[in-house]
Amino acid sequence: MKAFSYTQVRDVDQAVRSVAGTPGATFIAGGTDLLNLMKDGAQSQDRLIDINALPLTEIQMRNGVLSIGALARMTDVAAHPLVRGNFAMLSQALLASASPQVRNMAALGGNLLQRTRCGYFRDAGSACNKRTPGSGCPALEGENRGHAVLGGSDHCIAVNPSDLAVALLALDATVVTNSRRIPFKDFYLLPGTTPHRETALTHGELIVAVEVPLLNMKQGYLKLRDRTTFEFAVVAVGAALRMRGRVVQDVRLAFGGVATKPWRVQDAENMLRGKALTPETMAAAADVVLRGAVARHGNAFKIELLKRAIPVILEDLR
Ligand code: SF4
Repeated sequence: MKAFSYTQVRDVDQAVRSVAGTPGATFIAGGTDLLNLMKDGAQSQDRLIDINALPLTEIQMRNGVLSIGALARMTDVAAHPLVRGNFAMLSQALLASASPQVRNMAALGGNLLQRTRCGYFRDAGSACNKRTPGSGCPALEGENRGHAVLGGSDHCIAVNPSDLAVALLALDATVVTNSRRIPFKDFYLLPGTTPHRETALTHGELIVAVEVPLLNMKQGYLKLRDRTTFEFAVVAVGAALRMRGRVVQDVRLAFGGVATKPWRVQDAENMLRGKALTPETMAAAADVVLRGAVARHGNAFKIELLKRAIPVILEDLR
């Protein structure tokens, strides 16, 4: 592993200054992803700024908005009474993530910035446009069972791995940084021709909290994966539903495991509102979600799996 310097900081301004002024610097909190990447040579940093001492762990509700400090650990967020009692989707998505040990260490902000699990990205000996811009994307013709069918480009088809991000997208969350507020729908970038650029954050910008407005709807998170723990989604759905009799009054649907960023198609939600929840209306909504989907030789099964996942979770919430 390449040598790096390590500094602990105690306030947000100092943290931001320390990273913003040094191109090779980055923040470290739980380190559950970053340290693996550095040890594997998939990411190198000259300087790590340890932000664990910053006062950013508070979880509170104010005026109908849940605020979660960026350094709150996944375990603590999932178990918090405000989260369990009001945001079932969020709690379920967190508990479906990683392992208990990882959840005890990993911070909320870091979870949102974890890098893709694409094997070529994590293998420093492989070409990869995301790790080394312009070097190519071997996943297009190679091993792509876990890759995206939505939101990809000729430069990258890597899936965003965060369950938490899917729930936050469905819940219309806001990312709060040291300098601005970013609606969650604008937080992640499509790969396009620049897959190394993954979020709207600028270098040195620090996530300080995530805000989630209350949602008076039944909620849940369905994660389909190859084994039942410590595994990433092949297809995941974060859903919220409010019925009036047999008719859908309101619905939210966001998807993970299938796209280069957490995926939500509000046209599909609009299509379901005011309609009975039938196999036909749910299939029509799935077709809208999958508009523009591109299947590769290894991942075409995700399209059928997504179609089947929608009725499973909506029937469960009905
Ligand atoms: Fe790299 Fe993206 Fe291609 Fe994977 S899919 S090899 S991350 S460019």
